[in-house]
Amino acid sequence: MGQKKIVVLGTASQVPTTFRNHVGLFLRWENEDFLFDPGEGTQRQLIRFKVPINRIKKIFISHFHGDHCLGLPGIIQRLSLNQIKHPVEIIYPKQGEVFVKNLINAAVFHNNLELIFCPIDNDGKITVSGDVLIHAYKLDHGIDCFGFRISDPPKWNIIPSKLPKDLPKEAIGELKNRGMIEFKGQRIFLQQVAVPKKTQIFSYVMDTRICDSAYKIADSADILVCESTYLSTEIKLAENYKHLTARQAAEIAKKSKAKKLILTHFSQRYNIPQVFEQEAKNIFKNTIAAIDGMEVEFEIIKRSV
Ligand SMILES: [Zn+2]
Repeated sequence: MGQKKIVVLGTASQVPTTFRNHVGLFLRWENEDFLFDPGEGTQRQLIRFKVPINRIKKIFISHFHGDHCLGLPGIIQRLSLNQIKHPVEIIYPKQGEVFVKNLINAAVFHNNLELIFCPIDNDGKITVSGDVLIHAYKLDHGIDCFGFRISDPPKWNIIPSKLPKDLPKEAIGELKNRGMIEFKGQRIFLQQVAVPKKTQIFSYVMDTRICDSAYKIADSADILVCESTYLSTEIKLAENYKHLTARQAAEIAKKSKAKKLILTHFSQRYNIPQVFEQEAKNIFKNTIAAIDGMEVEFEIIKRSV
């Protein structure tokens, strides 16, 4: 099984600070690399933190406020300059169609990239390439803003001792694909001879007020990355500008039974991220306030069979 990890590329909301770049997040999901919300300066952050840009296959944009997308032109031009051969999918709210096109055409360059545009308008599963399940749910942020949920497609571990000894190898593939095969007049069901592999979940909740979608995205997440623009002392501002406090992010993590919460997207008014961690930990213990460059690996799943 390949590696799964995130690298935090930036942790600032609206205004970057000396130590915080605009948001941006890198996700390695086994054989695929994804980029979320390339804010201004994301290309340089990838270089700073030694994240290879060439393998990025999917770029997710939660919404088209500048802190989440102004780095897109640089990323696209760099991938094109590097003559990337694989197609690159851009997943974004349909409402922002004009902005995605404007950003890509923001300056003169010779585009060598095959870009696949994947606008989303509704909640649910997104059809994209690769061996991964992606769901998007609309958050509550004034303009269309989607959160994302990345998970492994359902897979099975066959228990060889439960199979007939003379079953040909090709039949096992067919059984995995179809869920049932007939062999020597008997039906063999996948559930009888296999156990489901444990799937992992990455959840990404960006700019929003508390809403049902945030819980749907965060449900049972192994890693939940959640915006936390304010502390509870600024709850009125959070309400007005449709953002979360650290406490609210922790409540989402707790109610959703997430395993780990990573806070990001901090307002410039706070100098150190630890204050967010302190507030959230009162509600949800396994919380980390992200800093730029932080890397977090998903736990290795031990084979159950
Ligand atoms: Zn933002």
